[in-house]
Amino acid sequence: MPLILADVKPLPAEHRPGILTEALGRVLAEDLIAPLAVPGDDNSAMDGYAVNSADGTGPLLVTQRITAGSCGSELSSGTAARIFTGAPIPAGADAVVMQENCVLDDQSVRLTKAVGCGENIRRRGQDIAEGEVLFNAGRRLQAQDLGVLASLGFAAVPLRRRLKAAILSTGDELVEPGEGPLRTGQIYNSNRYTLRGLLERLGIEVVDLGMVKDTAKATAQALQRAAAMADCVISSGGVSVGEADHVTAQVQKLGELRLWKLRIKPGKPLAFGRVGETPFFGLPGNPSAVFVTFCLVVRPWLLRRMGVTDETLLRLPASADFQTKRAGTREEYLRVRAVVENGQLLAKPHHNQSSGVLSSVSRSNALAIVPPGRTIEHGDRVEILLLDQL
Ligand code: AMP
Ligand code: MG
Repeated sequence: MPLILADVKPLPAEHRPGILTEALGRVLAEDLIAPLAVPGDDNSAMDGYAVNSADGTGPLLVTQRITAGSCGSELSSGTAARIFTGAPIPAGADAVVMQENCVLDDQSVRLTKAVGCGENIRRRGQDIAEGEVLFNAGRRLQAQDLGVLASLGFAAVPLRRRLKAAILSTGDELVEPGEGPLRTGQIYNSNRYTLRGLLERLGIEVVDLGMVKDTAKATAQALQRAAAMADCVISSGGVSVGEADHVTAQVQKLGELRLWKLRIKPGKPLAFGRVGETPFFGLPGNPSAVFVTFCLVVRPWLLRRMGVTDETLLRLPASADFQTKRAGTREEYLRVRAVVENGQLLAKPHHNQSSGVLSSVSRSNALAIVPPGRTIEHGDRVEILLLDQL
């Protein structure tokens, strides 16, 4: 897909910082440096007694009590401090003995075994060092990243603005779910929901133009409206060569068709270009093809435009639990279940690989790649793309 990805520039950075509670899935606009160390102090990993390991097993007079959130005073030789998890280690102590290894006798504590210097102490900066690069620009923030940022006191972070994608579903046969029973020949619009979901999971704002009739006029109007409202336009259906397929002709009139038809299966009729200056993806109508082309072509483009630098779908080697009869001329993406059996990762294909069978995607967790010109025997190594990240 080099042509499609060739000159995609990341969105400009948004100067309004995004508050942390709204930053999930958003893209960092700048490298972030840790302004402090985490943890900020050496602290106790246990409930127990802070001691000086040179004092041996005691008995040691317990002279202070340090809870999480408080701080003690310097420990003199021959004494111990009662201490709790997360509480700072007082000066003069170099180890914490877990309470299970202590016997308390009046005001003193005796250790049932000697403790080594540094034991049960969580060192200052062991999680994150001050000045460390926490995340590079281009990271899409995960839930655990928000936790890391919070642990450093960030209340807001510099984010790129959200990308806006306009979607439209072409087809006279389409009926919206909820809009009455189907007449013969009609089908419910499913692509709209697959696409919306895939886009929303990427943190993209969806401008949904709904359904578009199969006429040149309706197609042109919808494309123009969509292009004016978003950073890119994604349509489904109408990109083949039938009389009811108007999308490519209208894109040529309103902008430019840069690419049409890919050597992949499913997804051959995919179109790419621009409507006015707005980038345009014309996905096929067949629901499985919509999913596959989105993953392979649209998603990488969107991520690049969003400024994301570190996300590609994980490719894993798996053993084919199938065989193919003859070699194809296109790179094929089989909908498979990746399962581990007897310690081996197997790719088990869905029984119906037709591009119209959407349940094949829904019941799979990976795509197995069969290169053109190759036949696959049982047990051959194939690469799979895990879909869990989507
Ligand atoms: P097309 O490329 O428009 O000829 O569509 C190819 C196939 O995909 C046809 O069987 C269409 O009915 C079907 N299709 C097109 N759009 C949708 C949609 N939004 N939801 C479900 N199926 C669709
Ligand atoms: Mg159609």
